[in-house]
Amino acid sequence: MTTTTTPMTLRGVGIGRGLGIGPVLRMPDPLPEPADGPSALAADAEKVRAAGALAATAADIRLRGEKAGGSAKDVLEAQAFMAEDPTLKDDVNVRLDTGKTAERAVFEAFVQFRDLLTSMGGYMGERATDLDDVSQRAVAHLQGVPAPGVPDPDHPFVLVARDLAPADTALLNLDKVLALITSDGGPTSHTAILAREKSIVAVVGASGALSLEDGETVIVDASTGVVTVNPTDAERSAAEATLASRASAPVVPVGPGALADGTAVPLLANLGSVDKLAAAIELGAEGVGLFRTEFLFLDSDKAPSVAEQQAHYTTLFEAFPGKKVVVRALDAGADKPLSFLNDEPEENPALGLRGLRALRAHESILRDQLTAIANAAAATTAEAWVMAPMVSTVEETRYFVGLARELGLKTAGVMVEVPAAALLADRILADADFASIGTNDLTQYTLAADRLLGSVSSFQDPWHPAVLRLVGEVGRAGAALGKPVGICGEAAADPMLAVVLVGLGATSLSMSPAALADVRAELSRFTRKQATQFAELALSANSAVEARAAVFAAATPSTNTQKSE
Ligand code: PEP
Ligand code: MG
Repeated sequence: MTTTTTPMTLRGVGIGRGLGIGPVLRMPDPLPEPADGPSALAADAEKVRAAGALAATAADIRLRGEKAGGSAKDVLEAQAFMAEDPTLKDDVNVRLDTGKTAERAVFEAFVQFRDLLTSMGGYMGERATDLDDVSQRAVAHLQGVPAPGVPDPDHPFVLVARDLAPADTALLNLDKVLALITSDGGPTSHTAILAREKSIVAVVGASGALSLEDGETVIVDASTGVVTVNPTDAERSAAEATLASRASAPVVPVGPGALADGTAVPLLANLGSVDKLAAAIELGAEGVGLFRTEFLFLDSDKAPSVAEQQAHYTTLFEAFPGKKVVVRALDAGADKPLSFLNDEPEENPALGLRGLRALRAHESILRDQLTAIANAAAATTAEAWVMAPMVSTVEETRYFVGLARELGLKTAGVMVEVPAAALLADRILADADFASIGTNDLTQYTLAADRLLGSVSSFQDPWHPAVLRLVGEVGRAGAALGKPVGICGEAAADPMLAVVLVGLGATSLSMSPAALADVRAELSRFTRKQATQFAELALSANSAVEARAAVFAAATPSTNTQKSE
């Protein structure tokens, strides 16, 4: 087959660094739209059917969540709530009163709900796929047919889909799914988050993926985000050799992060709740580099009280006695809207009143949060650091650091997520105690590409030399002033890029705990001198693709040396 078909490549965003080779199997097409004919049943009978189907769908999704555990459980719980939403049920009943069938009324009510979420964009927009899945399950239940889901052939396969619903991703049979390719969904979609957590080889946002056909062979390389379709025999052998060498690579024991020459690079965890503390510690997190506090309050419609917040932060600090724990002040807006902070609709929320800007507009909320953190810090032994999101000026830095000190916090820094902050890092770091680079937003703003939009996901690549140059500016400023520079965006979870970031001056790396082992292993293979050389190579490239290729090529001889030792 490989000799008669034309090789081609697709590009998307790789999740993790895995590699998968195998035949494509596409997700089955969704159920057809239910016909809009009048129902043969009375409206009340249809209401009973519809309510029963929605309740059964919620129960089924919850059961899947129980089986999957981890963050999938929370995601599926949220989906089950969608099926039980009282407004949705009312909407279904209104439609049934006009004589529609339960199938049609459920379908239409979900479409309306979906359109509403999509029009909100950002984080809410990304939940639209979740709704489609709930709708399909409820309609399938009414029709007495199986809900379309992940196929289950008797051989391993590479799953190709537009985007996967959390219910599907959560229960993927990892013995059979060699890799996952989606055409939609950015690096922060649920599919990406769950794939990362379950270490599924995945490339998301690969436009053109839906043109793949069942049975075609693909090589899915998450470390580069490239899918090679119908590879040549040579490409296939090379990929198989890489897989074999990775399988036999020595496992680096859990311990502090360090380069091969002993240079310490503390490896910290990114967390959004206190549920994952034990897992982070087990995976060797040396502290917390980013505690995303807004996730604690995404569903609240009023500002959390000092006491409520203090309880969360105390639990967090208690898990890391004597260790560094960086708490980020609420980063509300754009992809993470909080109704009590983002009250005005905005045309372009990523460029709006978000992060520290929103907090300044509601200073009492910021004061309460910093007070809660200070109180929790005083009651525990963790080294509590605080930082502000979305800082773009020296003046904002002074404001935040001043307020944090006034409220009793000793170490206050800023996130560098806006190019302006990176370019003025020397002046910002003159006032801040540390900087933490949020490469997700820094990439979004440097490349002017919405980080949640699949259609521009190829721009959302932190390997881009423009992004790396900005990281280098911050690294240089940190070194000159003796101030720590951490990285807490997804870039730190990309093992090869992590080495480059250290070469650019990062002094610690913070990531989703599932990525710690791979990053620890990669750092241990290279010296500081090599990291600096890789950084120079990446900086002198013209594109993200070139930067990655140049660094991988330079790093390969070391792999061989390591293997022959
Ligand atoms: C970032 O922007 O890189 C970051 C770490 O913050 P968040 O992903 O929460 O916006
Ligand atoms: Mg950010």
